[in-house]
Amino acid sequence: MVDVLRHDLLIIGGGAAGLRAATAAAQLHPRLNIAIVSKVYPMRSHTVSAEGGAGGVIKSNDSLDEHIQDTISGSDWLADQDAVELFVREAPAELLQLEHWGCPWSREPDGSVAVRPFGGMQKERTWFAADKTGFHLLHTLFQTSLQFSSIRRYDEWFATRLVVENGRCQGVVAIELRTGQIRLISAGAVILATGGAGRIFPFTTNGAICTGDGMALAYRAGVPLKDMEFVQYHPTGLPGTGILITEAARGEGGILVNKDGYRYLQDYGLGPPDPWPRLRAMELGPRDKLSQCFVYEMQKGRTIQGPYGDIVYLDVRHLGEKKINEKIPFVRELARKYVGIDPVHEPIPVRPVVHYMMGGVHTDAQGATPLPGLYAAGEAACVSINGANRLGSNSLSECLVFGARAGRAAAAFAREHPAADLAALEAQSRDEERRITTTVLRAEGTERVSTLRQEMQLAMESGCGIFRDEASLQETCNRLARARGRFMRLWLDDRSRVYNTELVAALELDFMLDAAEAVAYSALARTESRGSHQRTDHPQRDDARFLKHTLAYRTGGAPRVDYLDVAITRWPPAQRVYGG
Ligand SMILES: Cc1cc2nc3c(=O)[nH]c(=O)nc-3n(C[C@H](O)[C@H](O)[C@H](O)COP(=O)(O)OP(=O)(O)OC[C@H]3O[C@@H](n4cnc5c(N)ncnc54)[C@H](O)[C@@H]3O)c2cc1C
Repeated sequence: MVDVLRHDLLIIGGGAAGLRAATAAAQLHPRLNIAIVSKVYPMRSHTVSAEGGAGGVIKSNDSLDEHIQDTISGSDWLADQDAVELFVREAPAELLQLEHWGCPWSREPDGSVAVRPFGGMQKERTWFAADKTGFHLLHTLFQTSLQFSSIRRYDEWFATRLVVENGRCQGVVAIELRTGQIRLISAGAVILATGGAGRIFPFTTNGAICTGDGMALAYRAGVPLKDMEFVQYHPTGLPGTGILITEAARGEGGILVNKDGYRYLQDYGLGPPDPWPRLRAMELGPRDKLSQCFVYEMQKGRTIQGPYGDIVYLDVRHLGEKKINEKIPFVRELARKYVGIDPVHEPIPVRPVVHYMMGGVHTDAQGATPLPGLYAAGEAACVSINGANRLGSNSLSECLVFGARAGRAAAAFAREHPAADLAALEAQSRDEERRITTTVLRAEGTERVSTLRQEMQLAMESGCGIFRDEASLQETCNRLARARGRFMRLWLDDRSRVYNTELVAALELDFMLDAAEAVAYSALARTESRGSHQRTDHPQRDDARFLKHTLAYRTGGAPRVDYLDVAITRWPPAQRVYGG
């Protein structure tokens, strides 16, 4: 029993959700021994790249009920309304807490917190720090976490497996990337705060580390993945790179035009082209609808063909140089650097790009999964407040609200359930070491990680994108199953231990194949259209059969798909109306 690393509470992930969970637990229980494991230095977590802002009611013209209503209607009624209610109630206090910890929220001239409009929100309620909100928010959380000596960090450690013994999660097996050593870290409770899985698609705003690791870890431990078929496309990514042009560009007044310079959104029931400002309409419609409108324009031949496929233009020129520099300076920087145009003088070429996973590890409102001792929060989790379509700026607030809740709940569990059975946990750790060494690191096959990754991504894009149907989804499922088979015949060039990035890429691909499978099979089973899940063979929403969450369980073959009722409190299902 040598060398076991022991903690009370173990958090996988150093992004917004993980850091907020850690500080909440540390504040509540100063003597709790807490660890954060992160495969990258925490400040490199994907949260850092969030631009637009974080949603929370603050102004006197706004109300909690309106934020709740917007979130529920944005979700196409698939969000759990009890969870949305508590999310909306707790978000403002979380954002103020960040202010007190030093987050430099942008200000109105009178010194009060400034808010900007965001898609699908009736009122202006998105707090922002210019257009680098995630950077400032993550810095604030990170520096606050440093105050607590009870928080120990394992930076650049890669978790590969949850250890489950006696029916509860008691830690993880992780690789220390610097040495390549595979270690057991035991704990009374584990929180997965591992972020999204956008990298299962070829064209995404997500950083290279967003590979669905936590989703796959939970899935392999028997925990269902919820609502995985709901994948958000953001309507304005840069062609080629997929780099995000934040919704704040439209929130500040940017417009979308087709090849004729025409504001095409007016043709799709998203409202008349009123002069700015007009909320809930046109460019500030929800992301699912805007991305679908792009495809309709493409089908009508009204998009522009560029070197990286079809595009439309996001025009912010009328805002003027001063406002652009003040409110969306990063948009200008990105457009100049990555497409070589200055948005003060030219429109920005954009197209829809995979941005966010509404689905994730099935949890309740305390972040608890069905597996005792295992919790999840942030993009990796599905509570669910986002349902079939997340509203922009709700995610950062979700990381704070549910990160803190999961931190508190997991801490309470850990205090009552210290890790036990260390010998059994160690045996699992040795098994895992054997698996990584023999079936991945020293496998004697011929398949390359990059080839299989590309095959998976293309299978997802071609059959499981903005529009899907039974045949396309079935084809995606078949291609993924073949890719999974080929993964068993891997070959790595780098067989060393120290910072083996090829090994990490292989293990990430292994996780992504699981996440992709859950997305594709869940999409195949849902024979209706709702939010971001649009089936051309089943174009209507079908509340009678599908006002339900999908739960995908891992099996040896195709996942088992089950359903769970949606919690409806005060807002019965209705049509989504924008711009009316
Ligand atoms: C470009 C971009 C802009 C965005 N803008 C906004 C916005 O303006 N407003 C908004 O509300 N939302 C925005 N979002 C969404 C939002 O930023 C994310 O959903 C949110 O930041 C996710 O935070 P997280 O803490 O769940 O995960 P992340 O910040 O992604 O962190 C995941 C953590 O898990 C760790 N990890 C993962 N796998 C492992 C493993 N196997 N072993 C060890 N560690 C692991 C990583 O090291 C990392 O620390 C944006 C997203 C993108 C991509």
